Amino acid sequence: MPNSRYVGRHRPEMKPLRGRQVVVPIALLSSTVAGGLLVRDAGASQLSPEAAAMKNLSNSVAGLGLTADPAAVAAATAERGASGRSSRDMARQATPLILTASAAADAAAKAEQDRVADAKAQAAKAKADAKAKALAAAHRWVKPLFSSYTLTSGFGWRWGKMHPAQDLAVAIGTPVHALSSGTVIFAGWSTEGYGYMVKIRYWDGTVSWMAHNSRLVVSVGEKVDPGQVVSYSGSTGNSTGPHVHLEIHPDDGAAVAPRTWLANHGVYL
Ligand SMILES: [Zn+2]
Repeated sequence: MPNSRYVGRHRPEMKPLRGRQVVVPIALLSSTVAGGLLVRDAGASQLSPEAAAMKNLSNSVAGLGLTADPAAVAAATAERGASGRSSRDMARQATPLILTASAAADAAAKAEQDRVADAKAQAAKAKADAKAKALAAAHRWVKPLFSSYTLTSGFGWRWGKMHPAQDLAVAIGTPVHALSSGTVIFAGWSTEGYGYMVKIRYWDGTVSWMAHNSRLVVSVGEKVDPGQVVSYSGSTGNSTGPHVHLEIHPDDGAAVAPRTWLANHGVYL
């Protein structure tokens, strides 16, 4: 039954106008958002415009529960009064700023993610490189003698007997070096004519024998690095003169020609 229209002599009954009730909150809301963004932005010198806008937007959103910053609202009102702009205009101006701030925040987050991912990748690569370098260093092969020497008897038949080694003549007391990384599996006096001998099993399973030493400086079970001094040369055991008798046993099996084997590993006696 219509009761808000003037029908004849009776005064129309006044009914609350819903539209008017919501006008005030919207205006307040608009001025709060716009005020928070525009006024605070001017004072936020420490922040980028986008960051300041984001900060103020969140302030304003938090303020929707009637906890709006009174200073911001007052400033927005003053601004509106001074410029003659409506709060709706100000809110409209704020919208692109909000969108820009949102995009800038997304881009910044993405850039930070990329930066962290790059740093992780670089650290992993550096670690892998260092590991590969360390492994290459541990697996390198070197000569048994760093000082000069003379190749005497080689691998083959000698005086009707097989000589399964390369002899290197040097002065007594010359340092003898491990050919690569390995473990000492024998260090002592040989009862088979080799005198003081060192046997090393290397990382690849190859075993070297170094015989006729005057002195040993490693013991069984000791780990050695490439080039580490394991003994000093001599002429002990069945020896006709100061020299190092070098045998190479791949996989601890039969002896092979040391010069050929070493050459295949980049070492030239
Ligand atoms: Zn020999």
